[in-house]
Amino acid sequence: FNLAIPANEPVLAYAPGSPERKALKQALQEAKAKQRELPAFINGERVLDGEKVSVHPPHERSFTLGHFYRGTQDHVHRAIDAALAAKPAWESLPWQQRAAVFLRAADLLAGPFRARMNAATMLGQSKNAYQAEIDSVAEMCDFFRFNAYFLQEIYREQPLHSPDGIWNRLEYRALEGFVLAITPFNFTSIAANLPAAPALCGNTVVWKPAETQIYSAVVIMELFEAAGLPKGVINLIYTDGPEVGDIVFKHRDFAGLHFTGSTKVFQQLWKEIGNNVGHYRSYPRIVGETGGKDFLVAHPSADAVEVAVALLRGAFEYQGQKCSAASRAYVPASLWAAVRERLVADMKTLRSGTVEDFGNFINAVIDERAFDRIAGYIDGAKADDAVEIVAGGGYDKSEGFFIEPTVLLTTDPRSKTMVEEIFGPVLTIYVYEDAQWEETLELVDTTSPYALTGAVFATDRAVIEQASRALRNAAGNFYVNDKPTGAVVGQQPFGGARASGTNDKAGSAINLQRWISPRLIKENF
Ligand code: NAP
Repeated sequence: FNLAIPANEPVLAYAPGSPERKALKQALQEAKAKQRELPAFINGERVLDGEKVSVHPPHERSFTLGHFYRGTQDHVHRAIDAALAAKPAWESLPWQQRAAVFLRAADLLAGPFRARMNAATMLGQSKNAYQAEIDSVAEMCDFFRFNAYFLQEIYREQPLHSPDGIWNRLEYRALEGFVLAITPFNFTSIAANLPAAPALCGNTVVWKPAETQIYSAVVIMELFEAAGLPKGVINLIYTDGPEVGDIVFKHRDFAGLHFTGSTKVFQQLWKEIGNNVGHYRSYPRIVGETGGKDFLVAHPSADAVEVAVALLRGAFEYQGQKCSAASRAYVPASLWAAVRERLVADMKTLRSGTVEDFGNFINAVIDERAFDRIAGYIDGAKADDAVEIVAGGGYDKSEGFFIEPTVLLTTDPRSKTMVEEIFGPVLTIYVYEDAQWEETLELVDTTSPYALTGAVFATDRAVIEQASRALRNAAGNFYVNDKPTGAVVGQQPFGGARASGTNDKAGSAINLQRWISPRLIKENF
């Protein structure tokens, strides 16, 4: 068992007539042909009790995909008990045996589960085929394979000096207790990785997904099961977040939180954990990847067409619901006319509709709450004299939660939509005087509390270096002449600091280290 650095899972194109498109169409049809009962998974048992809640595609509100059953506090207790009971056997397995489960899961996902997983993400979360493929297949496979490789490297490494007669060694134990994974709706791969990464390290997990991602969460559990994950290692429950927190954060064996979601919720959870810190056996590990207000700043030396294309893809793919989405841009006056012309022309070509039509770029935003929030920002912009609507501005929730990709132009670089995370297809642009480049870098750095992703466009090398230095703390993932989205596991480990998270870089050895509690052993002989 000696893992080589994995290759990234190839992204399939789903061209008309291709076998993958045929298989995906069939999976979509099958999924729509029957309403699914979506069980919680506790100790390997499928649990169907609690309040019945129907699940609808965000782009087709009147259609019912299936039902889940909102869990009770009893589910939380049972999931914790199952995780604790499964722990001794799971953590004592040789790490290769644990890795084998997730490597097998990756192979099954790249093969027989591919179409099903993509169909679930497309219907449940309103992703088009390309966005589903890069997330729920390619990235998820990459998380499983790269994490196994990184774990091997961690275990191999013994960074200790042992003088003659002494054997110093590190034993890489799991955390003592159970881990809670709380996951967001916007990436199926993140939802899978948050329980899987701690589990790979020998931990057992209680997993609470976003309510809006349950449809694909069930397929993830079926994948884990098919890959041979023992019962109780990952327990999926649908109890309301606050009720889960109420029990988990008071539990003596709570050992860690693996969270991705909004800054507000993460800060609230951290406070609850802090309030209970005296109850725990160990200090819990707290890992959170949270919100962003990601920027793109163009220098006068940049190529206007490249900037326009990066803005279009960076701001509007998956309806702007990527934590890394470009949502504020700084464009020099000398480039603005050309950027605007290209951006507006390209936006006219974007098609929206349901995910089953493979030609769509734009689908629906995740739910009514998100729709109303984003529409509120657009209404606010319409009423603001400092803002011009350059493109879009429309929305309609009669059939699905559709919002037109919208570009706002503001004369106030600290206006609401330049500062707050909107998490939807809204991009705000501020045009600066070319001579104000350095002041603009200062603005980029200080305008928002977040520091997740950001991009600079420039051809002048000295300028690239200057921007990189000035924006050193403004983004955990910093891109030069590329859009700020689309990090690839094994190539660009992902995470941000400031209000954007603990920056433990998802899909890297840094993240795995958080789920390990090393024991040092010194032996004389
Ligand atoms: P969210 O509303 O914060 O929800 C995230 C998770 O927290 C969901 O499972 C949610 O469950 C749960 N939750 C909410 N309130 C809770 C509470 N009081 N106690 C326990 N759990 C609670 O975020 P989202 O809308 O799913 O995702 C969008 C956010 O995630 C954006 O801010 C985005 O930037 C961020 N994000 C960041 C990254 C990154 O890598 N930095 C990646 C992806 C997303 P319910 O669904 O049941 O409310």
